[in-house]
Amino acid sequence: METNTIKTVSIIGIGLIGGSLAISLKENGFAGQVIGVDRSQDNLDKAIRRRLIDKDMPLEQAIDASDIIVVATPVDSMLELIPFILDRVDQQIVMDVGSTKAALMEAVKGHPKRGRLVATHPMAGTEHSGPEAAVPGLFDGKCTVFCDIEDSDKDAVSLIQALYDSIPMRMVYLNSTEHDLHTAYVSHISHISSFALALTVLEKEQNENRIFQLASGGFSSTVRLAKSSPDMWVPIFRQNRDYVLDVLDEHINQLAKFRSLLIKKNFEEFYEQIEQANQIRKILQ
Ligand code: NAP
Repeated sequence: METNTIKTVSIIGIGLIGGSLAISLKENGFAGQVIGVDRSQDNLDKAIRRRLIDKDMPLEQAIDASDIIVVATPVDSMLELIPFILDRVDQQIVMDVGSTKAALMEAVKGHPKRGRLVATHPMAGTEHSGPEAAVPGLFDGKCTVFCDIEDSDKDAVSLIQALYDSIPMRMVYLNSTEHDLHTAYVSHISHISSFALALTVLEKEQNENRIFQLASGGFSSTVRLAKSSPDMWVPIFRQNRDYVLDVLDEHINQLAKFRSLLIKKNFEEFYEQIEQANQIRKILQ
């Protein structure tokens, strides 16, 4: 399949990620036509009104009409959806954007059309979901991870590289196990930590008005991720349970350390701990 011709792209799951990708690929000319598929007709109607997609179709028809089928549904649904799509593709390329990879790779292992799937994870998002949450420029200049590309056909990888290059995004290559481990350490723990912080404050501060009046920039930015959808996050925690438990144990140790220092009134050590935490500046500005 030529990489430099305009493509018909179907997006399965026209929410934040699928919708934002649709905007980018239409705007930059990579996609001539974007077809939407979703389990909710209401989402499809919104996507058409917002011009995220040109038309909607049932899944089987969309597969036949497309060069590329992007699967952007929650990661649990992908375990059935992607083998179902692979059963029906000929030369079309299937790409997923899921936040976990090992379970999906297991689900498609040995599939006769495994080579047509390119597993990717664009590392960009917001706490919002659904077609209303889709925004232009979400992925610009960010990083996307390709997983286990040795199991994908070369022409399929080239075309998906061209797709991400058109945005443009930086591309990183990992195996699915490394991907799940590193995303647990960076992304998944941040969400648990934010959910727990929101619950802590809601529990201690029953007066919602006070939270609203006193919330500073620090609180708002730390708790922002707690607005994220359980429909998307519970499947991620289910699939990446072991690595998330590993990093969660470390996080609980760190919280316990701060607690113990407060109890002992050891503010010198507290100071040093904060200085050590400040080292994160070397990695993130
Ligand atoms: P989202 O905004 O909730 O969009 C998902 C869409 O898929 C919704 O329209 C949903 O419909 C639909 N859907 C759910 N199950 C379906 C099925 N079986 N068949 C067809 N459509 C279905 O979620 P998102 O944030 O875009 O996440 C989509 C994928 O991207 C997930 O795999 C996630 O792990 C990954 N991802 C997310 C982020 C992030 O920060 N959000 C970043 C990178 C990757 P309903 O409204 O009816 O549920």
